Amino acid sequence: MRPVPILPAFVTPAAAGRVAQAHVWCQHCETVHSHGAFPGHRAAHCYRKESPYRATGYELDIRGEVASPDDVVPKALYAGRHRLRSKLEDAAPLLRSALLAPTLGARGKHHLEKRLGRVRISVVGLSWWIDLDAFPDAGAKPRLRDRPDHAGRDFVSLLSTLYGVARGVVGVWLLEVAAGVSFNAAGRDGIAAAIEAAYASEAEGRDGRP
Ligand SMILES: [Zn+2]
Repeated sequence: MRPVPILPAFVTPAAAGRVAQAHVWCQHCETVHSHGAFPGHRAAHCYRKESPYRATGYELDIRGEVASPDDVVPKALYAGRHRLRSKLEDAAPLLRSALLAPTLGARGKHHLEKRLGRVRISVVGLSWWIDLDAFPDAGAKPRLRDRPDHAGRDFVSLLSTLYGVARGVVGVWLLEVAAGVSFNAAGRDGIAAAIEAAYASEAEGRDGRP
Protein backbone atom coordinates (compact mmCIF):
# COMPACT_ATOMS: atom_id res chain seq x y z
CA MET A 1 0.00 0.00 0.00
CA ARG A 2 1.26 3.41 -0.90
CA PRO A 3 1.32 5.95 1.91
CA VAL A 4 -1.52 8.47 1.88
CA PRO A 5 -0.20 11.94 1.00
CA ILE A 6 -0.95 14.84 3.32
CA LEU A 7 -1.95 18.05 1.54
CA PRO A 8 -2.09 21.50 3.12
CA ALA A 9 -5.70 22.71 3.07
CA PHE A 10 -7.22 26.16 3.59
CA VAL A 11 -10.79 26.90 4.56
CA THR A 12 -13.19 29.44 3.14
CA PRO A 13 -15.58 30.06 6.07
CA ALA A 14 -19.33 29.72 5.78
CA ALA A 15 -21.04 32.87 4.53
CA ALA A 16 -24.43 33.82 3.23
CA GLY A 17 -25.43 31.24 0.65
CA ARG A 18 -22.33 29.05 0.94
CA VAL A 19 -21.03 26.40 3.30
CA ALA A 20 -17.49 26.29 4.67
CA GLN A 21 -15.12 24.38 2.41
CA ALA A 22 -11.52 23.19 2.57
CA HIS A 23 -9.42 23.67 -0.56
CA VAL A 24 -6.23 21.93 -1.66
CA TRP A 25 -3.95 22.59 -4.61
CA CYS A 26 -3.56 19.41 -6.64
CA GLN A 27 -0.31 19.40 -8.60
CA HIS A 28 -1.44 16.43 -10.70
CA CYS A 29 -4.65 18.07 -11.94
CA GLU A 30 -3.14 21.58 -11.61
CA THR A 31 -6.31 22.81 -10.03
CA VAL A 32 -7.93 23.34 -6.62
CA HIS A 33 -10.06 20.51 -5.23
CA SER A 34 -12.69 21.50 -2.64
CA HIS A 35 -14.01 19.34 0.20
CA GLY A 36 -15.94 19.59 3.44
CA ALA A 37 -14.16 21.88 5.93
CA PHE A 38 -12.84 19.28 8.40
CA PRO A 39 -9.49 17.50 8.57
CA GLY A 40 -8.89 13.89 7.64
CA HIS A 41 -8.87 11.51 4.72
CA ARG A 42 -10.72 12.21 1.47
CA ALA A 43 -11.34 10.34 -1.76
CA ALA A 44 -9.52 12.35 -4.41
CA HIS A 45 -11.51 14.67 -6.65
CA CYS A 46 -8.84 14.25 -9.32
CA TYR A 47 -10.09 14.28 -12.88
CA ARG A 48 -6.74 13.34 -14.43
CA LYS A 49 -6.67 9.56 -14.59
CA GLU A 50 -2.90 9.44 -14.07
CA SER A 51 -3.10 11.25 -10.71
CA PRO A 52 -1.67 8.94 -8.02
CA TYR A 53 -4.13 10.46 -5.54
CA ARG A 54 -6.93 8.52 -7.23
CA ALA A 55 -5.52 5.33 -5.73
CA THR A 56 -4.67 6.68 -2.29
CA GLY A 57 -6.92 9.65 -1.69
CA TYR A 58 -5.29 12.26 0.53
CA GLU A 59 -5.39 13.67 4.04
CA LEU A 60 -6.35 17.29 4.51
CA ASP A 61 -4.05 19.15 6.86
CA ILE A 62 -6.00 22.32 7.66
CA ARG A 63 -3.58 25.23 7.95
CA GLY A 64 -5.84 28.26 8.11
CA GLU A 65 -8.42 30.34 6.32
CA VAL A 66 -8.44 32.03 2.94
CA ALA A 67 -10.88 34.44 1.34
CA SER A 68 -11.18 32.52 -1.92
CA PRO A 69 -10.17 29.13 -3.36
CA ASP A 70 -7.94 31.08 -5.78
CA ASP A 71 -5.72 31.96 -2.81
CA VAL A 72 -4.66 28.28 -2.66
CA VAL A 73 -3.18 28.40 -6.17
CA PRO A 74 0.65 28.66 -5.94
CA LYS A 75 2.12 32.07 -6.64
CA ALA A 76 3.74 30.88 -9.85
CA LEU A 77 3.52 32.88 -13.06
CA TYR A 78 1.28 30.48 -14.93
CA ALA A 79 -0.35 28.52 -12.12
CA GLY A 80 -4.13 28.51 -12.31
CA ARG A 81 -4.15 30.17 -15.74
CA HIS A 82 -2.38 27.53 -17.81
CA ARG A 83 -1.87 23.82 -17.29
CA LEU A 84 1.69 22.60 -17.76
CA ARG A 85 0.58 19.06 -18.53
CA SER A 86 -1.64 20.24 -21.42
CA LYS A 87 1.16 22.41 -22.82
CA LEU A 88 3.57 19.46 -22.68
CA GLU A 89 1.02 17.29 -24.45
CA ASP A 90 0.79 19.93 -27.19
CA ALA A 91 4.58 20.03 -27.47
CA ALA A 92 5.06 16.26 -27.41
CA PRO A 93 4.31 15.53 -31.11
CA LEU A 94 6.77 18.27 -32.12
CA LEU A 95 9.39 16.91 -29.76
CA ARG A 96 8.91 13.35 -30.98
CA SER A 97 9.06 14.32 -34.64
CA ALA A 98 12.26 16.28 -33.93
CA LEU A 99 13.70 13.18 -32.23
CA LEU A 100 12.61 10.84 -35.04
CA ALA A 101 14.92 12.44 -37.59
CA PRO A 102 18.26 11.64 -35.93
CA THR A 103 17.16 8.43 -34.20
CA LEU A 104 15.69 6.86 -37.35
CA GLY A 105 17.98 8.60 -39.79
CA ALA A 106 15.02 10.14 -41.56
CA ARG A 107 13.28 13.41 -41.97
CA GLY A 108 10.84 13.25 -39.12
CA LYS A 109 7.27 14.27 -39.55
CA HIS A 110 4.34 13.03 -37.53
CA HIS A 111 4.03 10.31 -40.18
CA LEU A 112 7.05 8.44 -41.33
CA GLU A 113 7.77 5.52 -43.64
CA LYS A 114 11.31 4.26 -43.76
CA ARG A 115 12.82 1.41 -45.75
CA LEU A 116 15.88 -0.48 -44.54
CA GLY A 117 16.59 -3.19 -47.13
CA ARG A 118 13.64 -5.60 -46.89
CA VAL A 119 12.34 -3.91 -43.77
CA ARG A 120 9.73 -1.20 -43.57
CA ILE A 121 9.29 1.00 -40.48
CA SER A 122 6.05 2.98 -40.28
CA VAL A 123 5.23 5.59 -37.66
CA VAL A 124 1.89 7.39 -37.50
CA GLY A 125 1.49 9.61 -34.48
CA LEU A 126 2.33 7.40 -31.52
CA SER A 127 1.66 4.09 -33.30
CA TRP A 128 4.38 2.22 -35.14
CA TRP A 129 4.82 -0.99 -37.12
CA ILE A 130 7.89 -2.83 -38.33
CA ASP A 131 7.52 -5.31 -41.18
CA LEU A 132 10.74 -7.29 -41.53
CA ASP A 133 9.90 -8.55 -45.01
CA ALA A 134 7.86 -5.80 -46.62
CA PHE A 135 10.20 -5.58 -49.64
CA PRO A 136 11.07 -9.19 -50.56
CA ASP A 137 12.33 -8.15 -54.01
CA ALA A 138 14.46 -5.13 -54.76
CA GLY A 139 12.47 -2.58 -56.70
CA ALA A 140 9.15 -4.35 -56.13
CA LYS A 141 6.20 -2.71 -54.48
CA PRO A 142 5.90 -3.42 -50.77
CA ARG A 143 3.85 -6.39 -49.65
CA LEU A 144 1.02 -5.32 -47.42
CA ARG A 145 0.56 -7.59 -44.45
CA ASP A 146 -2.10 -7.50 -41.77
CA ARG A 147 0.22 -8.55 -38.98
CA PRO A 148 3.46 -6.65 -38.68
CA ASP A 149 6.40 -8.39 -36.99
CA HIS A 150 6.64 -5.69 -34.36
CA ALA A 151 4.16 -2.99 -33.39
CA GLY A 152 3.60 -0.60 -30.57
CA ARG A 153 1.85 2.53 -29.50
CA ASP A 154 4.61 4.66 -28.01
CA PHE A 155 7.99 6.15 -28.76
CA VAL A 156 9.90 4.37 -25.98
CA SER A 157 8.99 0.89 -27.26
CA LEU A 158 9.85 1.93 -30.84
CA LEU A 159 13.36 3.04 -29.87
CA SER A 160 13.75 -0.03 -27.64
CA THR A 161 12.88 -2.34 -30.55
CA LEU A 162 15.09 -0.54 -33.07
CA TYR A 163 18.15 -0.15 -30.90
CA GLY A 164 17.93 -3.23 -28.64
CA VAL A 165 18.01 -1.11 -25.48
CA ALA A 166 15.61 -1.91 -22.60
CA ARG A 167 12.51 0.29 -22.43
CA GLY A 168 13.36 1.49 -18.94
CA VAL A 169 16.80 2.64 -20.08
CA VAL A 170 15.35 4.38 -23.16
CA GLY A 171 12.88 6.19 -20.91
CA VAL A 172 15.62 7.40 -18.57
CA TRP A 173 17.72 8.62 -21.50
CA LEU A 174 14.79 10.46 -23.09
CA LEU A 175 14.04 12.18 -19.80
CA GLU A 176 17.66 13.15 -19.27
CA VAL A 177 18.13 14.42 -22.82
CA ALA A 178 14.81 16.29 -23.02
CA ALA A 179 15.05 17.83 -19.56
CA GLY A 180 18.79 18.33 -19.27
CA VAL A 181 18.92 16.65 -15.87
CA SER A 182 21.08 13.71 -14.95
CA PHE A 183 20.23 11.15 -12.30
CA ASN A 184 22.59 9.12 -10.15
CA ALA A 185 22.76 5.35 -10.56
CA ALA A 186 20.07 4.70 -7.94
CA GLY A 187 17.79 7.26 -9.60
CA ARG A 188 18.29 5.72 -13.05
CA ASP A 189 17.58 2.23 -11.71
CA GLY A 190 14.44 3.43 -9.93
CA ILE A 191 13.03 5.25 -12.94
CA ALA A 192 13.89 2.41 -15.33
CA ALA A 193 12.20 -0.10 -13.00
CA ALA A 194 9.09 2.07 -12.77
CA ILE A 195 8.90 2.30 -16.57
CA GLU A 196 9.26 -1.49 -16.93
CA ALA A 197 6.61 -2.00 -14.25
CA ALA A 198 4.23 0.32 -16.12
CA TYR A 199 4.63 -1.76 -19.30
CA ALA A 200 4.14 -4.97 -17.31
CA SER A 201 0.93 -3.73 -15.70
CA GLU A 202 -0.36 -2.47 -19.05
CA ALA A 203 0.32 -5.90 -20.60
CA GLU A 204 -1.49 -7.61 -17.72
CA GLY A 205 -4.48 -5.32 -18.21
CA ARG A 206 -4.60 -6.23 -21.91
CA ASP A 207 -4.47 -9.95 -21.14
CA GLY A 208 -7.38 -9.59 -18.74
CA ARG A 209 -5.40 -10.70 -15.70
CA PRO A 210 -5.52 -8.71 -12.46
ZN1 LIG B 1 -6.29 16.21 -8.59
